[in-house]
Amino acid sequence: MSKHIVIIGNGIAGVSAAREIRKHSDFKITIISEETKYFFSRTALMYIYMGHMRFKDTQPYEPSFWIKNKIELIQDRALSIDFSKKNIALKNNSSVTYDSLILATGSKPNKFGWKGQDLKGVQGLYSYQDLKLLEENTKKGINRAVIVGGGLIGIELAEMLHSRNYPVTFLVREQNFWGNVLPKEQSEVIVKHMIDDYHIDLKCSTELDEIQANDHQRVTSITTKSGTKIDCELVGLTAGVSPNIDFLRSTNLKVNRGILVDEYLQTNIEDVYAIGDCAEFVKHPKTDRRNIEQVWYTGKMMGLTVGKTISGQKTSYQPGHWFNSAKFFDIEYQTYGWVFAQLQAHQEKFFWKHPEKNINIYMVFDKASRKFIGINTFGLRLRHELFDRWLTEKRTIDYILEHLKSANFDPEFYATQEASIINAFNKQFNTNLSVKAKSWKSILNF
Ligand SMILES: Cc1cc2nc3c(=O)[nH]c(=O)nc-3n(C[C@H](O)[C@H](O)[C@H](O)COP(=O)(O)OP(=O)(O)OC[C@H]3O[C@@H](n4cnc5c(N)ncnc54)[C@H](O)[C@@H]3O)c2cc1C
Repeated sequence: MSKHIVIIGNGIAGVSAAREIRKHSDFKITIISEETKYFFSRTALMYIYMGHMRFKDTQPYEPSFWIKNKIELIQDRALSIDFSKKNIALKNNSSVTYDSLILATGSKPNKFGWKGQDLKGVQGLYSYQDLKLLEENTKKGINRAVIVGGGLIGIELAEMLHSRNYPVTFLVREQNFWGNVLPKEQSEVIVKHMIDDYHIDLKCSTELDEIQANDHQRVTSITTKSGTKIDCELVGLTAGVSPNIDFLRSTNLKVNRGILVDEYLQTNIEDVYAIGDCAEFVKHPKTDRRNIEQVWYTGKMMGLTVGKTISGQKTSYQPGHWFNSAKFFDIEYQTYGWVFAQLQAHQEKFFWKHPEKNINIYMVFDKASRKFIGINTFGLRLRHELFDRWLTEKRTIDYILEHLKSANFDPEFYATQEASIINAFNKQFNTNLSVKAKSWKSILNF
């Protein structure tokens, strides 16, 4: 009899696992997920509110895909799991048994016990239900929204509300926007962009104290820790996310902040795996990576990896070097390798910015060996394959700068920046580097 693989969570991690298993086997596959019946792209939620996409445009697969690939979908909540009996109890009173189980339950927005955090008009931005709630909370128009938490989801929410011309006050605890991740030089660029170009009322070094409501328990204002009262009809709580694993906490599954897994995404219980935002490595297979990584592409990679293992090719998770990308209103951001907000003692930095446009790069390298450590770019798109290769080859900052042209996606546009970047570096570090014009394919030995 064919094995039954059950996956809880139909996000990018769970669906990638299902697809990979189907590619290699005829196992019975069931996905249980509560939020929506069909997989959708969470990263595109903002574009639905902004009117650029319809919900159905965010769903990569037609309903027939699941039938054709014999992937059974159950839209329900898993309430509890009896791991000894391999049985999952669902909210609708039925249950499902499995041979192998993949937990891919994602994240949930953080709440820090603020007074008023559960009032009407106060919400996070994570799920499709949150998007619908945002529509509901703003359908009559609002005079002001307050967003709490200066990270990537907070700035997306600011952009969404701004697109409908709602005034936004954005409270950021750090001195600068995303100040625990971005170096000050780059954080300041975003702050200026938000204030000058989008008129966001950005208040750095400011924390929420409490949220006030009217007699109908609907938000009317907030107060900051320094005592400032701000009238508003919507409060967005976007102070990060945590693994969505509360229903698994009082079981014999080993958890910390997330579900603990080894390099094969295997938990402490046989035939039970965890992937995506909810997984936490006991020890990450790549020593310089974080044990929990809540980004789209890592969810996908974990899904593909566990899919291979379950289909009989035992495969360890090998994500390569850290990279990420995002958009801050109009500014595109990419990062390769590690750039921290604070420079470490052995590191040197090079920051170059365009005199007028929101284009800049921030590079970090080792002072003694000149080994390249990481780069953040604003407004420039660089090739992932090359940076991954250069990080593996432990190239120097000098080599990277001389070959930067090869990594560029848009050579015509980029040509002018390169000379300027290299000149600035030569001046600052007293070097004599020059632009080398090699194609990226020749560097990768295609
Ligand atoms: C607004 C927003 C924008 C983002 N933008 C980016 C971006 O630009 N780039 C990027 O890399 N990342 C981005 N992210 C993060 C990225 O979307 C996540 O890392 C990724 O979606 C996580 O995928 P996942 O499969 O692990 O979990 P999820 O996508 O969270 O899927 C988990 C699913 O499991 C379901 N579930 C949980 N518990 C149960 C249960 N007990 N029973 C049944 N179902 C359950 C949930 O309802 C959910 O549908 C963004 C996130 C948000 C919220």
